[in-house]
Amino acid sequence: MLIVQKFGGSSVANAERIRNVAGIIAENYSFGHDMVVVLSAQGDTTDELLDKAAELNAAPSQRELDMLLATGEQQSIALMAMCLEAMGLPAVSLTGWQAGIRTNADHGLARIRRVDPERLRRELDKKQIVLVAGFQGVNKFDDYTTLGRGGSDTTAVALAAALHADRCQIFTDVEGVYTADPRKVPGARKLEEITYDEMLELASMGAQVLMNRSVQMAKRYGVELEVLSSLVRAPGTKVKEVTRTMEEMKITGIAKDENVARLTAADVADKPGVAFRLLHTLSKAGVNVDMIIQANGKDGANDISFVVAQDHAGKAYDALMARRDAIGFDHISMDENIAKVSVVGAGMMSSSNIAAEVFEAFSDEHINIQMITTSEIKISCVIDAASADRAVKAIHRRLFETA
Ligand code: ADP
Ligand code: ASP
Ligand code: MG
Repeated sequence: MLIVQKFGGSSVANAERIRNVAGIIAENYSFGHDMVVVLSAQGDTTDELLDKAAELNAAPSQRELDMLLATGEQQSIALMAMCLEAMGLPAVSLTGWQAGIRTNADHGLARIRRVDPERLRRELDKKQIVLVAGFQGVNKFDDYTTLGRGGSDTTAVALAAALHADRCQIFTDVEGVYTADPRKVPGARKLEEITYDEMLELASMGAQVLMNRSVQMAKRYGVELEVLSSLVRAPGTKVKEVTRTMEEMKITGIAKDENVARLTAADVADKPGVAFRLLHTLSKAGVNVDMIIQANGKDGANDISFVVAQDHAGKAYDALMARRDAIGFDHISMDENIAKVSVVGAGMMSSSNIAAEVFEAFSDEHINIQMITTSEIKISCVIDAASADRAVKAIHRRLFETA
């Protein structure tokens, strides 16, 4: 059996944790399995590297940033190889490059184009435990790229797909996927299983337990995932196409995203084509727009508000201001103190009272909703950031904790 395992930053944070993970790898290897293990950078290493860069350059080039960030994962794989060596086990560490992970040239947010698995296969044939640096690849110029925060999950799924692995296990610091972040909501329940679609929504709406792109890739290539703890031995959560409990589960979970900002274009002319020009400008600047609301003001002028990822807010502002007259608005206001709270579930729309309960929970907590969007599978509300944790807890209590 070929197993791909991925261990996140907290699972390899120090020597003791590395030994613990080495024990898990060794046990599986002793059963005769072929082992490919993807590792993240230790603990907060990636953030620390970003801080170091910022000390020297407020806006470093993405190429050099990727060169720096890629070193975090390389430390982990080398240290793990040494630990396994010390246990008398054959192990070899490979960078993303050596593992054949080829990406496009989009530094900082690169997409995996293909995996050339020859080297991996050769090492596996030699019965080596193969340790691969997560989160990184190499582009056609042979420069290092990184896949975006949380990208080691995507590395693991890409390798599992390319090698037709029998199992893909994502080990982390919680026991699986829960109905809400178990660190913030004590009453959160572990899910035995969840569909790709629901997991994709939860991940895209801010549940960082899996990177959304890894879930997308898992769905596309039919890679079944298991999310489980590296510290506690317990069955985790299966992420798959269809789940047994699908009919009964109306709501799967609640997610919060604080990495959002609201921009409002004020006094937009009430004429056809304005919304198009505004959104076209944003799309050309590479900004993804999430929720959009148009409010009718007096005197034939409107306000158009929309939500973008916080790290895109500056770029969005600059792009719009550069075309202010062409688009036709007065000014842009920006609010970064917001959060998006989303309730996700495949059976949601067949049950009209869920939306009502969500809004009642906000109302009971006296939390003002600034924007709302709904779809077949989710309800999202924008509220002020300071109330977000309270909101998630209140909705969770209402939807999951009352029998
Ligand atoms: P890793 O370093 O292993 O990749 P992450 O920090 O990226 O770990 O993801 C795990 C964290 O995701 C957990 O510690 C938990 O706080 C958070 N999380 C958010 N939402 C959920 C959820 N619905 N289920 C489980 N964990 C969640
Ligand atoms: N080390 C990277 C990050 O912190 C990638 C990962 O952990 O998946 O985002
Ligand atoms: Mg992660």
